[in-house]
Amino acid sequence: MGRYIGPACKKCRRAAMKLFLKGDRCNMAKCPIDQGHGAPGPHLRRRGKASDYSLQLTEKQRLRNTYGMREGQFRLFFQRALRSRGVTGEVLLQSLELRLDNVVYRMGLAPSRRAARQFVHHGHVRVDGQKVDIPSYKLKPGQVVSVRDNAASREYVKPNLDSAENRGFPAWLAVDKGAMKAEVLHVPTREEIAPVVNEQLIVELYSK
Ligand code: SF4
Repeated sequence: MGRYIGPACKKCRRAAMKLFLKGDRCNMAKCPIDQGHGAPGPHLRRRGKASDYSLQLTEKQRLRNTYGMREGQFRLFFQRALRSRGVTGEVLLQSLELRLDNVVYRMGLAPSRRAARQFVHHGHVRVDGQKVDIPSYKLKPGQVVSVRDNAASREYVKPNLDSAENRGFPAWLAVDKGAMKAEVLHVPTREEIAPVVNEQLIVELYSK
C-alpha cells in the first residue's frame, strides 16, 4: 500500500496542531507550528462556525496522519474496530497503538513513526525472535520486540533510545534499554494513549 512521502510539516499545518512527525526536529524552534504558520495553500477567510462534518473530518485527518496511514488502511482499521465487542473509538485507538511501527517508535528504536515504518520494512526488527517486516503487524500482550543482532542496526538505535527515555516510555511497554527490547505488558487504555483527538467525532464521521 502506498504512503505519503510529501512534506510532513504540511500535515501539521493543515491539522493546525503538532503531530510530531519528524522526531526530535519537532521540538526545535523552527517547527512551523511553533512559528505560527497556518494551513498551506491560498488563505481564504472562513466565515461563521465550522460545520459538524468539517470538525469530524479534521479529527479523522489528525489521527490518520499522526499514524502515517492512507485513507483505505485507516478505514479498514475502523471497520475492524466497529466489528469488535468494545467501544469502537477506544478499540480503534488501541489497534493503532499496537501496530508494530508505532511500538518501535514508542520504545525508542526510531525517532518518528515514519522512520519506524522504514526501520521495520528494512528488516531490522524482531518479534519474539522472528523477523517481521510488516509495519502494520498487530502486537499482542506478551510479545517482545527487539532489534536484530547487527552492529549497524544497534548503532542507529542508540541515540533514539536516549531521546525516547527523555520523553518517557509508555506504562504498557516494559522497555529494556540495554538489551534494546520491549515487552507489550497489556493493551493500552484510552488514558495511556491520551491522543489529542476526539475519537468519537471519527466514529460519527464513518457512521454516516
Ligand atoms: Fe513539522 Fe514536526 Fe512541527 Fe509537525 S511538529 S510541523 S512535523 S516540525
